[in-house]
Amino acid sequence: MPCSLWPPINKEEYKGVWVYLERDGDKLKDVGLELLGKARELAAKLGGTEVGGVIVAGTEEMAREAIYHGADKVVIVENPDLRVYTPAEYAEAIAKVVAKYKPEVFLIGATKRGRELAAYIANTLITGITADCTALDIDPKTRDLLQIRPTFGGTQLATIRTPQRRPQMASVRPGVFPKPPRDTSRVGQIIVEKVEISRRRTRLISVEKRLEKDVADLPPVESSDIVVAGGRGLGSAEGFKLLIELAKLLGGTVGASLMAVRAGWVPHNRQIGQTGKTIRPKLYIAVGISGAIQHLMGMQESKTVIAINPDPHAPIMQNADYAVVADYKQVIPLLIEELRKIKSQS
Ligand SMILES: Cc1cc2nc3c(=O)[nH]c(=O)nc-3n(C[C@H](O)[C@H](O)[C@H](O)COP(=O)(O)OP(=O)(O)OC[C@H]3O[C@@H](n4cnc5c(N)ncnc54)[C@H](O)[C@@H]3O)c2cc1C
Repeated sequence: MPCSLWPPINKEEYKGVWVYLERDGDKLKDVGLELLGKARELAAKLGGTEVGGVIVAGTEEMAREAIYHGADKVVIVENPDLRVYTPAEYAEAIAKVVAKYKPEVFLIGATKRGRELAAYIANTLITGITADCTALDIDPKTRDLLQIRPTFGGTQLATIRTPQRRPQMASVRPGVFPKPPRDTSRVGQIIVEKVEISRRRTRLISVEKRLEKDVADLPPVESSDIVVAGGRGLGSAEGFKLLIELAKLLGGTVGASLMAVRAGWVPHNRQIGQTGKTIRPKLYIAVGISGAIQHLMGMQESKTVIAINPDPHAPIMQNADYAVVADYKQVIPLLIEELRKIKSQS
């Protein structure tokens, strides 16, 4: 039975299989195109209903690409404030488009952003969502979307339905369905919708690029004799650049605390500690790391530990062979300078 508090819906009003088309800069992500292929199959089973797509802050070129991959209609949400992704505002805009066009089925790629959006949108529309489906089908009798996904640790497959609410929502990971062939003879409708956002809940202050590329060339933490690790005390991804330079001069690599990984400064494979890597380097330099027990668990077997921290009482200082009570911004550039001098002399 549907909840009595939910506003009633008329299922007959919902038509079509629609897909959220996530952007990757000025291109559409493949997962959206893959879902358009599946959407065509589902639409055929629903009696030849239309296939639609929604792009937030997209271009006509992107919309055409979606049409070449199976969409009959693409809505581009236009709002200059939505050029940069923020979950609540994107979800509101997409939910408004979905509420207006009323698709029977709405599919979302289970990317990091897609997962986040799917829950927001389903909640706004008061409907169900099955995450990470590995197969989708239609029950021809009820027109229910059969949302199939592994369960109980992958030992069983569950088929989930949303019999009372519309749209029926599902997310699917990238690569689960094949990308349909690009057919440039296909034509479709492109609609630009100006969508207002009721209230901005997120304000973008700055964009910091992850140092993914800069650290990708460095050896892994578990196979390096020298690890220069950074924590929240670095203050920004910029701070990590100094550590990368120092690590390169020492012939080592960079590691990080959980907080530095959470801040998005370096990828998770650099994390040292209980929920990261356990390492035993000859030299461990901890910079801007407090030395929480969970961090110490990953590096306490290091032969020599140097800690750089302005707080002499930080636990890492008690666990270090050399505790340098200082701001890293003063110490690391000096170390780099000295090492450069030594290198140029040798
Ligand atoms: C179940 C569980 C698992 C966890 N697993 C891990 C794990 O695997 N790895 C991990 O690291 N943590 C883990 N944690 C988190 C851990 O408890 C700490 O929160 C985390 O290690 C703190 O990171 P941090 O030292 O970078 O930040 P903080 O504790 O905030 O420390 C920052 C330090 O930087 C210093 N500092 C500030 N300014 C400067 C400056 N200018 N120069 C130099 N130093 C400066 C400060 O004095 C401070 O000591 C886990 C926690 C839990 C509950």
